[in-house]
Amino acid sequence: MRIDVLTLFPNMFQGFITESIMARAIKNNLVEINLVDFREFTDSKHKKVDDYPFGGGAGMVLSVQPVHSALISIKGYQDALKIIVSPQGETFTQKKAYELSNVKHIIILCGHYEGYDERIRDYFDYEVSIGDYVLTGGELAAMVLIDGITRVIPEVISKDESHINDSFNNDLLEHPHYTRPRVFEGKEVPEVLLNGHHKLINEWKLAKSLEKTKKVRPDLYKKYREGNNE
Ligand code: SAM
Repeated sequence: MRIDVLTLFPNMFQGFITESIMARAIKNNLVEINLVDFREFTDSKHKKVDDYPFGGGAGMVLSVQPVHSALISIKGYQDALKIIVSPQGETFTQKKAYELSNVKHIIILCGHYEGYDERIRDYFDYEVSIGDYVLTGGELAAMVLIDGITRVIPEVISKDESHINDSFNNDLLEHPHYTRPRVFEGKEVPEVLLNGHHKLINEWKLAKSLEKTKKVRPDLYKKYREGNNE
């Protein structure tokens, strides 16, 4: 998969692409990340990429020209899935991460300032939000998308660190985990996890998943019950 990111702050991605699972996925050629600084594409003498809003109002608006020029400079942009990150978009979910992990080429535009010149939207397929809050810029949102998508690409995560049981995959939050020591400051690992009885362990995991989901995400719990015709 290839992901091009249109951003005014490419340095924000350092660390993100050089560490952990992202770095490994890039090294193993499972994903290629290309950062495009769209300030380089402005026609403005002073390298401006924003301007005052027509009709007045607070804040500056991202101009259409630099974004458009940067977009059409990307090889194969016509066939790529073109996404804007914005608080006004469809909320990013685990289901969406799986869907997007099958796309060969994605272009993500990171906004800044008060918002986008509305005409920018004409060149993109859809908008994705990472939640109901407003960030300063789209870079963190783009990284959230890229991480969420990359970790479910087959072969990025080994079977041992499998994402199959991750929260949301079956409309449930994941069960608790324990590792050594068996006892820490008097707190013991549940006995059931120590007896090697896989049926009982799986029953315990499901019960704990249900308990936690019901407590902290009643909306998700309801979806799970409905999905299971309960
Ligand atoms: N005035 C805009 C509005 O109310 O919709 C918010 C602009 S925000 C300050 C600047 C940029 O940050 C947005 O264009 C977008 O790229 C990014 N951003 C902020 N919150 C986001 C969110 N929840 N999800 C995705 N991107 C977000």
